[in-house]
Amino acid sequence: MDKYTGRCLELAKEAAQRGEIPVGAVVVRLSDGRIIGEGSNECEEKRLPTLHAEMNAINAACRFKGGWRLDDCVLYTSLEPCAMCAGAALNSHIKTVYFGARDTSGRGASALLRSAEYLGEDECSRILKDFFRKRRMTVDNIRLIEAVSDDQLRTVAEIADEIWHEHFPKIIGAGQTDYMVNKFCTFEAEKENIEKEGYLYYKIKKGADDLGYTAIKPDGDRLFLSKLYLRQQYRGKGYSRQVLELHRKYAAEHGFNAIWLTVNRGNDIALRAYEGLGFDRIGSGVADIGGGYVMDDYYFEIKV
Ligand SMILES: [Zn+2]
Repeated sequence: MDKYTGRCLELAKEAAQRGEIPVGAVVVRLSDGRIIGEGSNECEEKRLPTLHAEMNAINAACRFKGGWRLDDCVLYTSLEPCAMCAGAALNSHIKTVYFGARDTSGRGASALLRSAEYLGEDECSRILKDFFRKRRMTVDNIRLIEAVSDDQLRTVAEIADEIWHEHFPKIIGAGQTDYMVNKFCTFEAEKENIEKEGYLYYKIKKGADDLGYTAIKPDGDRLFLSKLYLRQQYRGKGYSRQVLELHRKYAAEHGFNAIWLTVNRGNDIALRAYEGLGFDRIGSGVADIGGGYVMDDYYFEIKV
């Protein structure tokens, strides 16, 4: 793979981590081979349909040059450009567009270009396939975005802090809420859970909105649903059911035969919610969590 396509791929991977369709693009000046503009997809984050990787790369290159003519430049992109991006390449007089993967969705528009070359880079199409396979983890526009970068995990910790301090003091008291947030919901606790125990954390998203977060962990032949918390304004709208459906899909695809979880005995809203979602109460237990506190929970399970 040439270094420019390699850079496109890096940009695409970063986009995937932000929950964007993974496409990256760079504009290369022919006289010295320098990348003078680069971009990746930002449609979700900025809520605009025009912010494709190629558009962002072309705009960045024009800002760099201080003008819209890129007739001494070529564009590399990980995916065959759509009609909009092909139009932008034409309008900026880009000489040639090199693309790593064909767009198999029917939106590829490289035929519009004066000069285009398909590079046939498997990795460019593989990251797209992986992304869309994961994105099928979508029910009614609710998406689970796995939190993997430090930034994403810090956002999850912030959401956790907000939800816990809003919801739990009335159930377990302010002291225990603080204790549990500090012990279980910090960025450091998340990192440890992921590295030592195999947890997967997800932001629950609808469009650009963070509705809440959820975390799962393999536990023998069952999947342990460790966390599913929605911010106050998003409760009671059926989102928990959609998130659970996504977890059931995940469990089925990965060979787990049930999902189980614990709910505090005093958390009436959650108890009713999980019973309503079809969970069976399978037991109860009291766990010492240190600091003079215990977790007094019911255990629930649902078959997959
Ligand atoms: Zn495009």
